[in-house]
Amino acid sequence: MLKKLPQGAATFRGRGLAFVHGSHLVMKVCPECSQRNAPKAADTGVCGWCAYVPFYEDVEPVVELEVAA
Ligand SMILES: [Zn+2]
Repeated sequence: MLKKLPQGAATFRGRGLAFVHGSHLVMKVCPECSQRNAPKAADTGVCGWCAYVPFYEDVEPVVELEVAA
């Protein structure tokens, strides 16, 4: 059921921030509550604040967006 994910920096339909490595998704910023995720939770792809689990269908690549380094 997995579609091909965009690699690297991505958002969830323009919200939140994630990084995709292969089929592994690291959720940096939650699209639901906009909280910056703790590294441990981010690595699981689940929000440590509101337990939101993102839909892979919502993942969109970040194009020329300002991503704080
Ligand atoms: Zn959240």
